Amino acid sequence: MDLNKIDHIGIAVENLEEASVFYRNVLGLELIGTDEVPSQKVRVAMFKIGESKIELLEPTSPDSSIAKFLEKNGQGIHHIAYGVTDVDGAVIELIEKEVRMIDKEPRPGASGSKIAFVHPKASGRVLTELCEH
Ligand code: ZN
Repeated sequence: MDLNKIDHIGIAVENLEEASVFYRNVLGLELIGTDEVPSQKVRVAMFKIGESKIELLEPTSPDSSIAKFLEKNGQGIHHIAYGVTDVDGAVIELIEKEVRMIDKEPRPGASGSKIAFVHPKASGRVLTELCEH
């Protein structure tokens, strides 16, 4: 598997605009863009930090996994995403290694990326995303 960087850290927030103030105005990070990801029922704001990004996630529906996360844990770090050159190959490799996956096939992520989540029970409760741009 060809992981090449921490692509981004995903942070669950109640309100994208309110949460963005800290990252934009206090930390001075550059907002790359906002996007809606229907497959995850979230709105996303991406901030650039070097080669990596901070991904703020706001639920668009009460049955979004981010809404459930907020209900259980409140706002905070939701997942870590590793950049990978071939997400399809990585998922096949993980399944061959009998790693439990949330996504047995990659799905569309923010900004035209392809993503797949490893099940937190397979990754020490750290929700882990693989992300190909
Ligand atoms: Zn992510």
